[in-house]
Amino acid sequence: MGTIDGLPPLREVIATHELVAKRQLGQNFLLDLNLTAKIARCAGDLAGADVLEVGPGPGGLTRGLLAEGARRVLAVEKDARCLPALAEIAAVYPGRLQVINADALGLDVLAHLAPPVKVVSNLPYNVGTELLIRWLTPAHWPPFWQSLTLMFQKEVAERIVAKPGTDHYGRLALLAQWRCDARIVMTLPPEAFTPAPKVHSAVVQLTALPTPRFPADRRVLERVVAAGFNQRRKMLRASLKGHPRIEALLEEAGIPPTERAERVGLEQFCHLARLVAERPA
Ligand code: SAM
Repeated sequence: MGTIDGLPPLREVIATHELVAKRQLGQNFLLDLNLTAKIARCAGDLAGADVLEVGPGPGGLTRGLLAEGARRVLAVEKDARCLPALAEIAAVYPGRLQVINADALGLDVLAHLAPPVKVVSNLPYNVGTELLIRWLTPAHWPPFWQSLTLMFQKEVAERIVAKPGTDHYGRLALLAQWRCDARIVMTLPPEAFTPAPKVHSAVVQLTALPTPRFPADRRVLERVVAAGFNQRRKMLRASLKGHPRIEALLEEAGIPPTERAERVGLEQFCHLARLVAERPA
C-alpha cells in the first residue's frame, strides 16, 4: 500500500538501510505513519513554525511533522546510519528538512532555527530528562520554544505532570509546572515501537507561559527544591537546615516546618524561595 508522502513504508526503509536498533542510543522506532501524524497534531498548528526534532532515527515522526505542514524541521540525529534515509525525506520536501548529524546535548540549535519554534521529539530515554531540564531552565524566560511535545517513558511523563501528595511529585513537576502548562496528551503501549521497550510511553505537551506562574529567582528555587527533595520523606526543617533560620522562613511561607517536600505545592515553594533570596543564610 502506498504512503501519504510516496516514500516507502518504514519497515522497508529500515530493511534497506539496515537500521538494526541500537539499545545504547535508545532506539525504539515508531513505524506507523498514522500514529506519527497524530503525535505531530498534538503540537497544534505547525504551518508557521520551525520544528526541532531530536533523534529522528529512520524518520517516522519527521514524516508526520512534514505531512502535517511544518514550515521547517531541524532534525538532530547522533546515528550517522540514519542519514541516507533522512536524505530521501528531505528530497520529497525541498527546503523544509535540515538534518544535522550531532549529539543534541552538544549542539547550539538556536543558530539553525527561526521563531516561532516548537520542539517535537520521541526522545531517546538516556538523554530525554537531561534535555527537558535544559529546555525548562534557561537563564531567560520565555525560552526559545513555544511548546514541547515529547515522548517519554510513561513514568517520566507522570513525574512531569504530578501534583503534590502523589508518588511521582518532585523536582521535575515543580520545574515544569512553574513556567509551563503541562499535560499528558497520549499514552502508547510497548507494541507501538520496534523493538518494543519494556514499559509504556506517553506524550507530554508543555506550553511555555509568558511569565512564571509565581515570582521566584530561578536558581534559588532550584536550590530549595533540590534540597527539599534530596530526601523526600524528611521534614523540611531537616532537609533545609543549611539555612540557619529555616524554621521561621517556613512558617512565614505558610509551610509547617514538620511538612515533607512531597506535600508542598508550587506556590509555597516559590514563596519560600523568595524569602530565602531576601534573607540568605
Ligand atoms: N524519532 C524516531 C521515531 O520516533 O521512530 C526515533 C526515536 S528513538 C526513541 C531515539 C532517537 O534518538 C534514535 O534515532 C537515536 O539514534 C537518537 N539519539 C540518541 N541519542 C541522541 C543524542 N544524544 N543526540 C541526538 N540523537 C540521539
